Amino acid sequence: MAEQTAPGAQRFIPPDADTIDELRAAAGGCRGCELYRDASQTVFGRGDESARVVLVGEQPGDMEDQKGLPFVGPAGRLLRRAVDDAKLDPKQLYLTNAVKHFRFELRGRRRIHQTPDQVHITACRPWLVAEFARLRPDVVVVLGATAAKALLGPSFRVTRQRGELLPWPASAQHPEDFQRVPVDNAGEVADAPPTRLLATIHPSAVLRADDQDKAYEGLVADLTVAARALAGKRRVNRSS
Ligand code: SF4
Repeated sequence: MAEQTAPGAQRFIPPDADTIDELRAAAGGCRGCELYRDASQTVFGRGDESARVVLVGEQPGDMEDQKGLPFVGPAGRLLRRAVDDAKLDPKQLYLTNAVKHFRFELRGRRRIHQTPDQVHITACRPWLVAEFARLRPDVVVVLGATAAKALLGPSFRVTRQRGELLPWPASAQHPEDFQRVPVDNAGEVADAPPTRLLATIHPSAVLRADDQDKAYEGLVADLTVAARALAGKRRVNRSS
């Protein structure tokens, strides 16, 4: 089978976009791969630019596609419950996806989720890189295999390394894409606070699991590791 290609999102990203809002507006017109044709709209990330935790999922689902917001469907509801149970502050989260349009196939009148291919992940990755250039998380949480492919490369196995705190962006497949020069409030170059990355399963995997309780507990346990990493940082900051 011929390898699929797509022009990619890069040429739709305004080089002078300073904010996530400007990126979101530009992403509305992205034609970087064919997924825009059948989906209702681009679903960009949401949350505060100063969020301490960035969660990266796979792609919008049916409900997200209709509402234009990430994580508002059944998997999003489950994620919110897991975030609460892990004692993560929802106000500290920025939520986004590796692929910003809903990929699906029609069966009758139903739109059935289809996992994005590598070509879609690659095409859409510039948006993710652009978002990260404007975010300053303490912890990056990768939800599932598609987000792991986008950030960590195809050889990363979530099942093998879930729940482990890894250095960020050193653990990225292309760390140079996510490197940023830290600045303090006065705009001066400052010491970079260490950022960590943690991979876990996507909340939709909990919904599909044979043993949903066990899968949910695993998700909460992983998110609790992220919450503790934040709490640990707060202690360090207070005493310094
Ligand atoms: S999936 Fe990503 S690259 Fe493809 S059209 Fe949508 S925003 Fe652009």
